[in-house]
Amino acid sequence: MIPYGRQSINDEDVTAVTEVLAGSWLTQGPKVAEFEQQLAHRCQSQDCAVVSNGTAALHLACLALGLGTGDWLWTSPISFVASANCARYCGASVDFVDVDPNNGNLCPERLAEKLQLAESQGRLPKVVVAVHFGGNPCDLKIIHELLNPLGIKLIEDASHALGADYHGDPIGAGQYSDLTTLSFHPVKIITSGEGGAVLGNDSVLIERIRQLRTHGITKDPALLDTTEEGGWYYEQQALGWNYRITDLQAALGISQLKRVDDFIVRRRQIAQRYDVAMQSLPCQPLSLTTEANSSFHLYVIQVPADQRRSLYDYLQDNAIGVQVHYIPIHTQPYYRQLGFKLGDFPQAEAFYRGCLSLPVFPELTDEDQDKVIGCLQAFFA
Ligand SMILES: *Cc1c(COP(=O)(O)O)cnc(C)c1O
Repeated sequence: MIPYGRQSINDEDVTAVTEVLAGSWLTQGPKVAEFEQQLAHRCQSQDCAVVSNGTAALHLACLALGLGTGDWLWTSPISFVASANCARYCGASVDFVDVDPNNGNLCPERLAEKLQLAESQGRLPKVVVAVHFGGNPCDLKIIHELLNPLGIKLIEDASHALGADYHGDPIGAGQYSDLTTLSFHPVKIITSGEGGAVLGNDSVLIERIRQLRTHGITKDPALLDTTEEGGWYYEQQALGWNYRITDLQAALGISQLKRVDDFIVRRRQIAQRYDVAMQSLPCQPLSLTTEANSSFHLYVIQVPADQRRSLYDYLQDNAIGVQVHYIPIHTQPYYRQLGFKLGDFPQAEAFYRGCLSLPVFPELTDEDQDKVIGCLQAFFA
């Protein structure tokens, strides 16, 4: 089976992990701080906190921005459920902004309309989570220009977009947002097994996230209420979680990050080969954001909706592990229970009916890609 995505682990990655395993620190230790520095450097961000997974990164980003009961968070329905669930963890309400039907990213026109309506009703969101779908950056400048005058915070969910760039800067540099989150799940751009990160240019926010990832506890003398106690003393100053990443995982992440540019080059090559093949097929690739470069976490096509099911089955039967990204979040039973229904976000629902993700990962060979293309040609012949 050719999967739609998979990790690439080489000998250096293995050595990096086994070296930590033989040392003194297994859970959070020196590799964690090193991974944070390397990520901040690569993404041209001032600061970075790494956590146990990308969902934890979103949760803590929301908390750091003060999201809580009575607040609203808006995100895109074409995403993994974590982009919305992070609000629910904070006790906040979720609403969605419909997507651009051509690329599945949050649609700036729909956002502008929805903001105008919400402002007149006095229920503006506190936070918007913009998802760089498949690694193709959202039009951040336009989104920022809509949100900033209203004091609305912007989180970039860049789980797909490590290595992508927008207007000449890497995703994560944060010119247009408050915080950016990453995921290091094995199908993502780099992996640490499980892992995630929050990037940002406000060190106060990132320090808050570091405290919240370990129970809200600090030992930093500068932050303690009292310095009367002995060396054992620590304070829990807020209600936090155990969202720590291990040094084993951080070591793998550091080793993987050295390879990220090679990964992106290969993903872009694969995308280009698909682009050529799609020209003679009834398959429409995403229309990509101008002045941006996708990291191609996914290679998503739109196919005729009435053929999507049979095409999916045909490719699966031929050992090609295509996927569907994503079932619109608002149609999930949990969100239906909250009052959402089919028809609420028609562009997202239409996008879902025609979308299919083809295999793309650094170790996909040209031969395997040709097999995928050959199967598509055979299906439509
Ligand atoms: C993978 C993913 C997440 C969650 O990341 P985990 O590391 O699996 O918790 C969040 N948002 C999007 C868009 C993702 O693809």
